[in-house]
Amino acid sequence: DLRPIARALVSVSDKTGLVDLASALAARGVALVSTGGTRKALAEAGLPVNDVADVTGFPEMMDGRLKTLHPKVHGGLLAIRENPEHEAAMLAHDIRPIDLLVVNLYPFEETLRAGGSFEHCVENIDIGGPAMIRAAAKNHDDVAVIVDPEDYAPFLAELEANNGAATLATRRRLAQKAFARTAAYDAAISNWLAASLGEATPPWRAFGGKLAEPMRYGENPHQSAGFYLSGDARFGVATARQAQGKQLSYNNVNDTDAAYELVAEFDPARTAAVAIIKHSNPCGVAEGPSLAEAYARALRCDPVSAFGGIVAFNRRLDAAAAREVVKIFTEVIIAPDADEEAIALVAAKKNLRLLLAGGLPDPRARGLTFRSVAGGFLAQSRDNAVVDDMTLTVATKRAPSERELADLKFAFRVAKHVKSNAIVYARDLATVGVGAGQMSRVDSSRVAAVKAEEAAREAGVTESFAIGSVVASDAFFPFPDGLLAAASAGATAVIQPGGSVNDKDVIAAADEAGLAMVLTGMRHFRH
Ligand code: 5GP
Repeated sequence: DLRPIARALVSVSDKTGLVDLASALAARGVALVSTGGTRKALAEAGLPVNDVADVTGFPEMMDGRLKTLHPKVHGGLLAIRENPEHEAAMLAHDIRPIDLLVVNLYPFEETLRAGGSFEHCVENIDIGGPAMIRAAAKNHDDVAVIVDPEDYAPFLAELEANNGAATLATRRRLAQKAFARTAAYDAAISNWLAASLGEATPPWRAFGGKLAEPMRYGENPHQSAGFYLSGDARFGVATARQAQGKQLSYNNVNDTDAAYELVAEFDPARTAAVAIIKHSNPCGVAEGPSLAEAYARALRCDPVSAFGGIVAFNRRLDAAAAREVVKIFTEVIIAPDADEEAIALVAAKKNLRLLLAGGLPDPRARGLTFRSVAGGFLAQSRDNAVVDDMTLTVATKRAPSERELADLKFAFRVAKHVKSNAIVYARDLATVGVGAGQMSRVDSSRVAAVKAEEAAREAGVTESFAIGSVVASDAFFPFPDGLLAAASAGATAVIQPGGSVNDKDVIAAADEAGLAMVLTGMRHFRH
């Protein structure tokens, strides 16, 4: 026994699709009631619409804080239709039922993202909207509630198929979505207040995330997956605009995030920089006078692994750089922005995904990172330590030269983004060998040294790229062996946190090998 929808209250900040929806409803004979701005938009489109102020008998007041908070509205949403007591109350107080509620909220999240002032954010906290959404969702046995313009068209199709009524299954699904929306909305407000008080985002926020898109599959085809937005970062893979290319996969998102977070460590005002990522580890990172040169130098580190990689730029992508990248098979390009000519060059590769983030993430920003464990999840504050802010101490007899010091900082910046155990050889502000994810630090050193040899061979150079390089380690050397492996590969200087019980032995070994060694006092594990 489906009752056709006879009366709808429409009150939306985002007016996308509004007129189409309201026209279709009006054509079905649905009576429309709206708040000020919405009513104006509908009246301008020539649609018959009643002012909510005429329903409540109160004008909208206090800067719109009070519009719909009235028993004539909430009674109409909450009344159980086949309940004699509720019916009697409606009769007694002249409350008319509302069968459909269409609301989207004041743009609190957008205001926050756009950097609005505290007062401006406060004024964008919607009160009446969530109250109505929750009332309608509670009473979904009798009322349908729509909170997302994406649902307008399917909803109208359903009315068409059911003589103007919505099925209970649909009303329940819409109610579920409605509560998810108000929960996420309040979580965003609460997180913002927490941040303004200097507190970190509560971990449960991760599960209040907004589903940005369901994905075809997860890390492997037999796993299902979705991409959720937490709304707590301004520039990143989650908020970037996809200018072109195939849909992003789970692994693409993961790797693109790694690439962009890494390249954001390089201040674009100081230098152009490029990071090439494979399986969430860098296989080439370089600074350069231009993006194109930085890319060429990053690619030289490990051209074999770079095939099918993800490339991140720290500056607006120009044509010269785009021309180089499209020469080899690349999965994703991410940059703050791109020139028209660069976009056209990338467009020649239909599948290649181009993401334009609008800006760079702040490496010093606070935030949380998560990882799941069976039966729970771990939350920690983001690793927002930056080598430029660390107090570096020289532990060896020899201090690094100016050139070595610049390379050491470069290598440590990169090592922060390499899975542990991380060993990074760098020369002239470019990686020449990366050892990632090995279970022993000595193995990572060996892998990195082998990579440096292979890269030289690929480039037709007989001498390993590690010769004359510097080396960074994400954590201390527990024994001299890893350090000595780096020295015998050709590194002349080392940067590492220090703090091992064996530091004395390690420093003595460094002195013996003529190395310059700098301690950061801070480690960058990444597992
Ligand atoms: P309009 O553009 O129609 O003037 O306003 C629409 C917005 O007002 C919607 O986002 C809706 O959620 C919000 N809204 C509706 N009733 C109230 C209320 O009583 N108080 C507040 N603060 N917002 C309301």
